[in-house]
Amino acid sequence: MECSCSRCGKPASVYIGEASAGGRLVWSRAFVCEHCGAAWEEDGHGVLPPELREVVLQQQGEWCVDVLSGDSGTRVRALQVLRELLGLTVVEAKPYLKRIPGTVARGTQGEMERLARRLRELRVEVEVKRLAGQDAS
Ligand SMILES: [Zn+2]
Repeated sequence: MECSCSRCGKPASVYIGEASAGGRLVWSRAFVCEHCGAAWEEDGHGVLPPELREVVLQQQGEWCVDVLSGDSGTRVRALQVLRELLGLTVVEAKPYLKRIPGTVARGTQGEMERLARRLRELRVEVEVKRLAGQDAS
């Protein structure tokens, strides 16, 4: 990701990484200016700030979680996880029921891996996939 250096104003690069670690989302951002040597790094956890999330989606493409089985027990448990992780109300979660089996969520790879991990903990069979037709560059 290109940006301009806050110290010398010349073009510089920012590197963003995101991962799911132990069920938590962690991310980091590193800045390096080749012109004046300015550098900083920050990291955090939880969902990425929106502007960074955009960049990660551009870099890694968009990912999705598919729930593979549609039996009623699976649906109830899957919905429970979705409500918990996405902060949905009962009413907001209702449309998700219709998507099971199938794609229940989309987002960054880290977000989807975290969601899949939690779903698997509750014995919901899922698959994390990169959405087709996206360019990683
Ligand atoms: Zn600089």
